[in-house]
Amino acid sequence: MSVTADVASKFVFEEADIRGEIIHLDQSSAEILELHQYPPAVARLLGEFLAAVVLLSTTIKFDGRMILQAQGSGEIPLLMAECNSELEIRGIARGAAEASGQDFASLLPGGTLAITIEPRNGQRYQGIVPLEGGNLAACLEHYFENSEQLATRLWLTCDGSSAGGLLLQQLPAQLVSDTTQRSQQWEHVYILADTVMDQELLRSGQELLLAHLFPEDPIKLLPQRSVKFQCSCSEQRCLDALASLGSVELEELFAEQEIITMDCEFCNQQYGFKASDLAASEDNDPARSQH
Ligand SMILES: [Zn+2]
Repeated sequence: MSVTADVASKFVFEEADIRGEIIHLDQSSAEILELHQYPPAVARLLGEFLAAVVLLSTTIKFDGRMILQAQGSGEIPLLMAECNSELEIRGIARGAAEASGQDFASLLPGGTLAITIEPRNGQRYQGIVPLEGGNLAACLEHYFENSEQLATRLWLTCDGSSAGGLLLQQLPAQLVSDTTQRSQQWEHVYILADTVMDQELLRSGQELLLAHLFPEDPIKLLPQRSVKFQCSCSEQRCLDALASLGSVELEELFAEQEIITMDCEFCNQQYGFKASDLAASEDNDPARSQH
């Protein structure tokens, strides 16, 4: 098993009602973090957000995309990480080029963290928690406390390029019904997991790391899934966004310039449109492909 792959795996404790997720990002996080000139602390924080959104996406079932969005009152106005059901990720720290803070608390003081699920079909769901607790993991644990009511613990790390994460969640009683035994098992597993070092999350293969953390607990590791950086922007999405401005505003824009350019802030892809592109897009509307 490659230790530098971009992978997410679920695992279950075979003798306790506890499950977990373990993820490692290498190329995907490096590609995203290299696209912008982030100060090192901002890159590490965004990497943790990327790790977290993958952990959450594999823990919470949905078909669509999940967005983790922090809006702070400090040096980073907006920090976002997204992951879809195919485990394609993207992320950005907006306006963070000059940020001097060194950690979560100083970079994102006072603000909110929104966890949004946008299903392909159906209602959008959003949960909001305050940016508190000193780190992103604590903040997300608070979210799980409120929304899922299942004891959940997370460990996140990023060295500015690679990122890693571990999540443990206590499941409703199935194998073990005795409440004292359940809480003892949870405490046992949690205390062991809490010994995990950042370097282990960043460098160790998943099977080895789990065997190292929980040497005496039978664990079943489920098949790995690949994670990759893939931006969801497209020509059609840009055209749709332009069209939504309305014909009056568009006419004014095209009177000023022949080509309207749009840059995707996530992947730096540049798009350029002439008035005739919009007209053609509208003509093709019924046959528009679903992107
Ligand atoms: Zn893009």
